[in-house]
Amino acid sequence: MQTTKRRFWSNKRFRIMLTLELAVMLPAAALIYVNFAHLKSLKHGKKVEATIHRDFLYTLSMSEKKMNDRIFEMTDEIRALFPSPAAGTDSERGRALDQILSGHPWAAHAFIYDSEKGLLLRSQCQPMADPYIRREHDHLNTLYSGWFGMEGKMVCDGIRSRPRRISCHGEMVKRPSGSGFLATAFFTLPGLPSDQVVFGGISFDPDYLKQTFFPEMFEQIISQKITEEDRGDPLALTVFPRPDGSDPDPDKSLVSSTGWGEGKPEVTRNLEDAFSGLTLGIKFQGTSADAIASRWIKQGFIILGVLSLLMIGGLVLTYRSVSKEMSLARMKSDFVSNVSHELRTPLSLIQLYAETLELGRISTQEKKEEYYRTIRKESERLGKLISNILDFSRIEAGRKEYDLRETDIAELVRNTLDTYRYQIEKNGFEFETSIEPNIPRMRLDREAIARALLNLVNNALKYSDDEKFLKVNLYRTNATVKLEVVDRGIGIARRDQTKIFEKFYRTGDPLVHNTKGSGLGLSLVKHITHAHGGQVEVESTPGKGSKFTLSLPLTTGVTGTEDRMAAGATA
Ligand code: ADP
Repeated sequence: MQTTKRRFWSNKRFRIMLTLELAVMLPAAALIYVNFAHLKSLKHGKKVEATIHRDFLYTLSMSEKKMNDRIFEMTDEIRALFPSPAAGTDSERGRALDQILSGHPWAAHAFIYDSEKGLLLRSQCQPMADPYIRREHDHLNTLYSGWFGMEGKMVCDGIRSRPRRISCHGEMVKRPSGSGFLATAFFTLPGLPSDQVVFGGISFDPDYLKQTFFPEMFEQIISQKITEEDRGDPLALTVFPRPDGSDPDPDKSLVSSTGWGEGKPEVTRNLEDAFSGLTLGIKFQGTSADAIASRWIKQGFIILGVLSLLMIGGLVLTYRSVSKEMSLARMKSDFVSNVSHELRTPLSLIQLYAETLELGRISTQEKKEEYYRTIRKESERLGKLISNILDFSRIEAGRKEYDLRETDIAELVRNTLDTYRYQIEKNGFEFETSIEPNIPRMRLDREAIARALLNLVNNALKYSDDEKFLKVNLYRTNATVKLEVVDRGIGIARRDQTKIFEKFYRTGDPLVHNTKGSGLGLSLVKHITHAHGGQVEVESTPGKGSKFTLSLPLTTGVTGTEDRMAAGATA
């Protein structure tokens, strides 16, 4: 075939690959690269950790507000029940305070301070037997009497300046259960003129704060965070005292949420208002911001890695399929030029011999007969080629039909070979046949099987070089009839042994290159065999020869012509 040298940019495959790379691969690769760079900068700048910490700070400030709001709500509830300092005697107001305390077990102490009447402090009666609590009562009595005696007006003005008319005081106390935090809310009472220095107060029981208030608040905050963020890593909170002037020590935790485990908080916040003197700490349950960040970044890298591999895989697949399409196109064009060549040679020969005969220039009978024989042989060759092409085009169009009839395959093979024997022997081939007698009749398309056999025999003749030997075997093994065509020709390399059954495929052997052919014969053989429910195999050693075997089932199991078509439509 004539090859045209093209410049590389006019090469079709190059153009397709370039378009694909520019249109799809380049943007995808750029996107992946940008994401890689982004992940790297996140990793080096510890940006994920910083974002988590910012989120922690926000959660802590929300938690503080929530806890203070709850304390203010409870204080408001008590304030509404406080006796008016203007009415009744001290003992009546004392009883009213006792009543409030007995109705609110979470309140440890309650007091009313009136600059004129002094301090009236009551504590829960039940635990008063406990020396710690009695000491606490006495301590508060002394503290408040002295403090309010001196700064009562200032305290009262301070309360009035607050938005909810509540100010707080907190301190660490000792309880039988260990240390606790005593939060006290001071509040003004309604309906009193502003120049009067009168206010009330309520202390939240440290055990209540420790055992009920904080655990409940923590649980609410954590579960709210989980629902808000729909994320798998739950939070843990802790609260611990902040000794004046020194750093808080998280190991002396007052209360921790479930799942706190060991270790220090990742972020802390010093609380104000009701919990002034305490610090709130936060971290993840069982993991850390660092670990989450590196897991997140690792996942990102893995996803990008997989995407890159997929992209490379896609590129390779596309390259292969483009190459395949291109080589099919090339094979088709080789086919056209081969076939035209194959048609022209016998036609010119027939034309030349016929003209010579017509002009009566041949004198001897022997010479005439030789010319007639050549004309017959060449027309037969033409006929075979045209039948192959017609069959191929029918197969391609899905219109090939097989006419299956009960046939004696041994007789069919013998007859086919007999018509070809002269040509085989004339080509100098040592020709052997081995046909087993008594093979049962089977349903075959005579013409198709004969064509398959002739294609194989013809190939053996074409592709034999020094040692010209051809053998055809027909025998039965169990339910299969095998038809073998053996030669000692050029053989076929292993990598080509499956490809030769594809349409238009021809190997690169120089002998093949110099021999005319269309690359259709074996694809027809394969189609014909499949249509009979059988299969075709090749065993071959380069330089030693080849053996093609058609295996045909005795009972094909397919009865209709249409069915056979479907079975063999993939040649
Ligand atoms: P064609 O002979 O027209 O090229 P075929 O489809 O019959 O097409 O064969 C495909 C290719 O398989 C041939 O071109 C040749 O390279 C190889 N081939 C087929 N039969 C033989 C054989 N008996 N020995 C060596 N090579 C063979």
